[in-house]
Amino acid sequence: MSVLIVGTVALDSVETPFGKKEEILGGSAVHASISSSFFAETAIIGPVGNDFPSEHLDFLKSRNIGLSGLENIAGKTFRWSGFYEFDMNQAHTRDTQLNVLSRFNPKLGEEMRKTRFVFLANLDPEIQLKILDQLDGPKLIAADTMDFWIKSKRDALHEVIKKVDFVLMNEGEIRMFMETPNIPLAARRLLKLGAKAVIVKQGEHGALVFSDSYHFSAPSYPQEMFKDPTGAGDSFAGGFIGYLAKTGDLSEGNIRRSVIIGSVMASFNIEDFGLDRMRRLKAHEIAERFSEFKRFSEFESLGGEKYA
Ligand code: AMP
Repeated sequence: MSVLIVGTVALDSVETPFGKKEEILGGSAVHASISSSFFAETAIIGPVGNDFPSEHLDFLKSRNIGLSGLENIAGKTFRWSGFYEFDMNQAHTRDTQLNVLSRFNPKLGEEMRKTRFVFLANLDPEIQLKILDQLDGPKLIAADTMDFWIKSKRDALHEVIKKVDFVLMNEGEIRMFMETPNIPLAARRLLKLGAKAVIVKQGEHGALVFSDSYHFSAPSYPQEMFKDPTGAGDSFAGGFIGYLAKTGDLSEGNIRRSVIIGSVMASFNIEDFGLDRMRRLKAHEIAERFSEFKRFSEFESLGGEKYA
């Protein structure tokens, strides 16, 4: 298996200006692994309670996702409930019920320790650290987080950031974590903490990559079918790491391409509630949208005109 994703497996209750859904399949590990599965062999690690519907497992299996790291813990599955207003880039949490997540203590098998590409999806940073301790020299590690953990486990999050290659945060999160409204400055501060590169997700406005050696700005996609942003960040990350794993190429050019693949996957994810759009997604649609992203962001060099 080439991609290992650790995160939450959840039942989400979501309200957006376009409707309301109760207890649908969600979770950071689920959104990221479904997206990654379009590109590379993917396995997940996360806890589920004994109330987790078997049809959700069937869906994950249908995408060939390795489920041996899914741990059944007596109790209720992690639940998140939230809403979005017209600015759908901002999720408002109504309730987070950690449930079985609070008793999750992952142990990686021999094969999983050797995975080459690892994504630590949004999860308790103390658990992210436990995973990092068990890995056996992966080629690339990316990590995500959210305001919930920035507020409650700041120190553990600092430790995670020191140990990973790519940190993914959205604009609000990086501003909160680095205590500045200025995104490039916040990214610079985060790089100083030890991450090799930072990806700032800007929702429908694109994504920015900061590293010591390059900067890249992924374009926005004029998405008119926008129903539910839940899981957009995780779909982005899953596409990003899945494509890097598929190609095995960590050059700057391929990282740029992988960021666009991430943006493509996020743009599909938001078209319907939960994972519904991903259930219908076809490989040719990914390639077509990638071409659109390229077309939307191309422009020509100056023609040598003189200016006053
Ligand atoms: P995003 O990609 O940022 O929209 O992530 C959405 C997913 O994160 C949802 O499906 C939730 O189940 C999950 N989630 C919400 N809160 C947390 C949390 N505190 N820790 C881990 N996962 C969470």
